[in-house]
Amino acid sequence: MRLASIVLAFTSAVAVGQPAFAQQPISGRGAGRGGNTIAPGESCPPGSTEIRPRLCREPDFPAPSILDYRPHSTLTTPAHKVPQAKYPAIDFHGHPQGLLGSAESIASLGTSLDSLNVRMMIAADNMSGERLLRAVSVINASPKMKDRVRVLAGVNFSNVGPGWAERAIKQLEADVAAGAVGVGEIPKSLGLTIKKPDGSRLKIDDPELDPIWDACARLKLPVFIHTADPQEFFEPIDSKNERWLELALFSDRRYPPERFPKFEELMTERDNLFRKHPKTTFVAAHMAWYANDLGRLGKLLTDYPNVYTELGAVLYDLGRQPRGAHDFFVTYQDRILFGKDSFQPEEYPSYWRVFETHDEYFDYYRGYHAFWKLYGIDLPDEVLKKVYFQNALKLTPGIPQSGWPR
Ligand SMILES: [Zn+2]
Repeated sequence: MRLASIVLAFTSAVAVGQPAFAQQPISGRGAGRGGNTIAPGESCPPGSTEIRPRLCREPDFPAPSILDYRPHSTLTTPAHKVPQAKYPAIDFHGHPQGLLGSAESIASLGTSLDSLNVRMMIAADNMSGERLLRAVSVINASPKMKDRVRVLAGVNFSNVGPGWAERAIKQLEADVAAGAVGVGEIPKSLGLTIKKPDGSRLKIDDPELDPIWDACARLKLPVFIHTADPQEFFEPIDSKNERWLELALFSDRRYPPERFPKFEELMTERDNLFRKHPKTTFVAAHMAWYANDLGRLGKLLTDYPNVYTELGAVLYDLGRQPRGAHDFFVTYQDRILFGKDSFQPEEYPSYWRVFETHDEYFDYYRGYHAFWKLYGIDLPDEVLKKVYFQNALKLTPGIPQSGWPR
């Protein structure tokens, strides 16, 4: 009878997620059953955690996996949902893909953009030739969308060798005549995987590519370029890697050193490109993958006045350093462009909330990207306007320049 009631008490405590306090010896906070000691500088062994200096303890219950541990924050602070941007935005990093295929689909794109106050989408889908012509004709045929979508031209990096540059420039000029307003998104495969005909890796700063970048300067086309991927994707996938879950979920994001160049090697090649072509305007996508090191990004922008940066898909790094990110945006307010990357309309409001509020400790929209919460960085209106649309207008003469707020 007595045993049965103890078992019952234990099970009901576990059922509501509480430890069974009654079963524990009472001898002061933090005491109890002890643990294993470690030497100064050592880490606790797997399965245990440091409860006092150099004292490790294992939990009484099996720990949930990182997939299943979803604690609810008890913090209560003012929260402001921001469904629409405060000023009309230009999404410089658009991937509308199939939505530029027909009158109906482009109309549905317009409805989504209206709900977010995104006035203009720049399609960075690397289109060229026939595909670009088809997209432009769908855009031009839409009374509602003809001034609200512009396309970037792609560059084909296969068979780089004698004669390649002339062919590529000819195609680019044709794409500009068809309506392209810039170049991109130059994909991360430039540097990571694309090979030259002799089998060697096509480096980002390969001299055979020089004529195309110079042509972009002559044609006043900004070059939107994505180089490498987050630094952690190049690191060992272990319990210290802050992108462990993402790397475990997506096999194509792993860049082991035996098969890929190192992150720093790609950064060096990209910076050589920026340095070699000072008259060409480059927009480094994803804040050049330095959103986790804004000092380094600031140095890049200071060293290369021809370089701008775009903030798609790095909100998790901006929102976890609200004071530093605020100051960075104020300092470099003329050099940062809004962009979203993957087109998921329900994710844009997280951007508006980070940029426009000083809300605290709220969820990012993708748990596997970030095991932490975000904070608003509360940008001044003048900075919001530059980041949302003015900088993109300035760099890209092909975007309709009238009708924007002052
Ligand atoms: Zn992209």
